Amino acid sequence: MGAFIAFQDVTKKFGAVTVVDHLGLEISKGEFLSLLGPSGSGKTTILMMLAGFERPTSGSILLADRPITHLPPHRRQMGVVFQNYALFPHMTVAENVAFPLEMQRVPRAEITRRVDRALDMVRLSALKDRKPSQLSGGQQQRVALTRALVFEPDVILMDEPLGALDKQLREHMQLEIRDLHRRLGLTIVFVTHDQSEALTMSDRIAVFNAGKVEQIDTPQAVYDRPRTRFVAEFIGETN
Ligand code: ADP
Repeated sequence: MGAFIAFQDVTKKFGAVTVVDHLGLEISKGEFLSLLGPSGSGKTTILMMLAGFERPTSGSILLADRPITHLPPHRRQMGVVFQNYALFPHMTVAENVAFPLEMQRVPRAEITRRVDRALDMVRLSALKDRKPSQLSGGQQQRVALTRALVFEPDVILMDEPLGALDKQLREHMQLEIRDLHRRLGLTIVFVTHDQSEALTMSDRIAVFNAGKVEQIDTPQAVYDRPRTRFVAEFIGETN
């Protein structure tokens, strides 16, 4: 078997503008891969193509050796967490987590079982009857993460999920996500423009510049042996 997730010569254009340019990328099962690069380098577009919300202009995407390029999002078994994780204010934590399963008409008993299990995984069970306004920012972010876990996915896609949090909470959530990754054996693709976040969290980092991979390597190698001037300068920047 090849890589768990593979982008094969994927290009994405919006009109005449090429935002992802002949991308080849392989991700192993259980890997924590960060897509790192400045704003506008194509990271979100890559995640959207993997999630199924955008189609490549050309090229293929494989999951466990199966082409998924044209599969709709709900058939990909991937959980997605965005920065602007809107929770429904009038629903409790448990209802927020149950909502996507209700939309898919999963039977009630199965919903209860999966919601309880997912809340337990992120240690939110004690807060399940609260409304979002009664939670801290970090707890709200954990609810958003639980909403992705409730599908019991193999893969979690995260787009700047900690961008809205203050520094202390951000560092705490970084540890929690790492811990979850290890405990559940998840494959995580994590979009960030924050070098230090990518360096501390990832197994490997893919550094993007204008829709192309400049380097894909372990954090140590990217830091110690940047292969291009762009990588050296981008990694060297402080926030
Ligand atoms: P990043 O996540 O690295 O900030 P994006 O993937 O969001 O980069 O965007 C890459 C480029 O594609 C940007 O120039 C952006 O303006 C453009 N872009 C993204 N989505 C669309 C869209 N739906 N229509 C037109 N242009 C888009």
